[in-house]
Amino acid sequence: MDDGRKTSGDGGNAVPETPADFIREIILEHNRSGRFGGRVHTRFPPEPNGYLHIGHAKSICLNFGIARDFSGKCNLRFDDTNPSREETEYVDSIINDVRWLGFDWEDRLFYASDYFENLYRFAEQLVMSGKAYVCDLTAEQVKEYRGTLTEPGRNSPWRDRTAEENLDLFRRMRAGEFPDGSRTLRAKIDMASPNLNMRDPVIYRILRASHHRTGDKWCIYPMYDFAHPISDSLEGITHSICTLEFEDHRPLYDWFLEELGIHHSQQIEFARLNLTHTVMSKRKFLELVNDGLVRGWDDPRMPTLAGMRRRGYPPAAIRAFAERVGVAKRDSVVDIALLEHCVREDLNRTAPRAMAVLRPVRLVIENYPPGMTEEFDFVVNPEDPSAGTRRIPFSGVLYIERDDFMESPPPKFFRLSPGREVRLRYAYLVTCTDVVKDPATGEVVEIRCIYDPATRGGDAPDGRRVKATLHWVSALHCVPAEVRLYEHLFSVPFPGSTEGRSWKEDINPSSLEVLSGCMVERHLASSEPGAAWQFERLGYFCADSADSRPGAPVFNRTVTLRDEWAKIARSAPKDGGN
Ligand code: ATP
Ligand code: MG
Repeated sequence: MDDGRKTSGDGGNAVPETPADFIREIILEHNRSGRFGGRVHTRFPPEPNGYLHIGHAKSICLNFGIARDFSGKCNLRFDDTNPSREETEYVDSIINDVRWLGFDWEDRLFYASDYFENLYRFAEQLVMSGKAYVCDLTAEQVKEYRGTLTEPGRNSPWRDRTAEENLDLFRRMRAGEFPDGSRTLRAKIDMASPNLNMRDPVIYRILRASHHRTGDKWCIYPMYDFAHPISDSLEGITHSICTLEFEDHRPLYDWFLEELGIHHSQQIEFARLNLTHTVMSKRKFLELVNDGLVRGWDDPRMPTLAGMRRRGYPPAAIRAFAERVGVAKRDSVVDIALLEHCVREDLNRTAPRAMAVLRPVRLVIENYPPGMTEEFDFVVNPEDPSAGTRRIPFSGVLYIERDDFMESPPPKFFRLSPGREVRLRYAYLVTCTDVVKDPATGEVVEIRCIYDPATRGGDAPDGRRVKATLHWVSALHCVPAEVRLYEHLFSVPFPGSTEGRSWKEDINPSSLEVLSGCMVERHLASSEPGAAWQFERLGYFCADSADSRPGAPVFNRTVTLRDEWAKIARSAPKDGGN
C-alpha cells in the first residue's frame, strides 16, 4: 500500500528510506487511515527572541526532514505574539540560520502576528458561544484562584457575565479603554480540572507595547497557547511537532480547535536535545552575551548555529548529528563528543590538508644548498582522490612546532632531539646536530640539522626507519597568522549541577586561547572566510568569517583530530545519544 512515504525507488521491492521513529510511525498511521488525506505539512515555529541553537537544529531537521521524507511541506513561522522580547535582528538571524542548515520553506514564511486580526475574530467567536469571558481579576488574583496541583481552583466572580457583556468589554479592551493588566480574556473551561492549563487560561491580555511588525496597532496580545493551535490550523498544518514541555498543553490545544470547529492539527511531543558541557537556553545565552562572557551570539564557543558556523561546523555535520541522535519521548543528554565526531567525519571527507605551525621554532638545515628551494607533491585529501595533489615549497630554513623538539627527551619522546633523525613530512629525513639558545633566557631559538639528500620524498633507500614525522613550513614561503583554539565553554558536563555553584561559575576559564605569530603556508593567507582546512596533525580549522583578512589570516580551530566519541562508543555498546 502507498503510505505516502518516499522510497528508494528501486521499482518493485520498495524499501522505506526513512528511519523509523515514533513520530514517523504516527504519520504513517495517519496516512494509512486517511486522517489528513495523505497530506503531511509541518512547521518550524521559532520565537524571535534570540539566536537559534543546536537544539533548534534538531527540531528544524525533524520538521523539514519529515516534510522531505513524506513529499510534504514545512513552513517557517515566527511565533511573534510576545511583543516586548522580540527583535528584527533575531528574525534575520533565524532566516539565515535555517537556510544555512540547508532547508527551504519556499514561499511559506509566516508570522503569527500576521494572524492577529484572525485570532481576534476567533476570540470573539469563543465569547459569543459562551466559551470565553472577560475577567477583572488582577494577575495576582488569577494565580490565587487557580488552585494547585492538589487543590481545585475557584471560579472567577466574573465568570458568568453574559456573552453580550463580554463581547462589549472585549471590544473595548481592543479599543484601548482599559489600563494594562486590568482585565483579561479567559477561556471558560474547568476550574477543577486536574490539568492546571485547563483552569480557565488567559487568552488575551492588555499590554501597551510596540510590536516589531504591527507597531502600536494592538494593545491586546494573544497568549501563546491560544495563538499556536490557531496558527497551525490556518496554515493547514497536519502534524504540529513540539517539545515535551507542551505535553500538558495538548488538551488545551485540542480544546481551542474543537470549540472553534476549524482544521485540527495533531500535536506530537518529543524530547528536547540536551548536550553535555553546554547550556541550551536563549535566556542563558543572552546572559552570556550581555555579561561579556563570550564575544557575542556568534562566538565560536556558543552552541548557537551562528557560533557553530563561525567555528567551522559544516551544516551537513549538524544534520548528520540530528539524525544520529534521533527522536525520543524521554529526555536525555547527548555527549558533545558525538557532535564533534560528526563534524570530524564530515571535514575528514571534505577539508583540504595544509601545513601550519602554531608555536614555531626555526629549524636550519646546515647542509642544504644555500638559496635553493624545491617543491614536493602534497596530497590534498587522502580521503578524496579527486582532490589530487598540489606542490608545496621547501627550503633550508623551516619552522617546526616547538613542542616537537626536546633537548633532553624523556624515554617515551620520539620526536626531534639532539642526535635523532626524524621525517619532515613529504620532504626529507633530518638529524638534529645542535641548538642555538637565547643567552639570556636559555630558550632554544634555533634547531640545527643536517638532511640526507638520498631521502627525498621522506623515505630512506636503505629502508631505515624513523619514529616520528613532523609537519613544517618553509620560512621563505609562509605567512604569520593568528589562530584561536577553543575548548568546551563549560568545564563540567552539567553546568550548574554542583550544589552552591551557579552555571556561570562553571565556565571554562581556558575555553579560548589566542595564538599569534603562528606560521602557515602562504596560500592560506588568501583563504575565503569560512574555508575549512585540516592542518596536519593539529586538527580542522577555518578562516574566521569576521576577522580574517587577505594577508592577515585568522583561523579558528573547529575541532581537534582526537576522536573522543570513538573512545566513548567503544566502552558503551550502544551508539547514539538516546
Ligand atoms: P529556549 O528554551 O532555548 O528559549 P524555546 O523552546 O523557547 O527555546 P522556541 O523559539 O520557542 O525556543 O523554539 C522553536 C522550536 O524549537 C520549538 O518547536 C521548540 O520546541 C524547538 N526547540 C527548542 N529547543 C529545543 C531543543 N533543545 N531540542 C529540540 N527542539 C527544541
Ligand atoms: Mg519558547
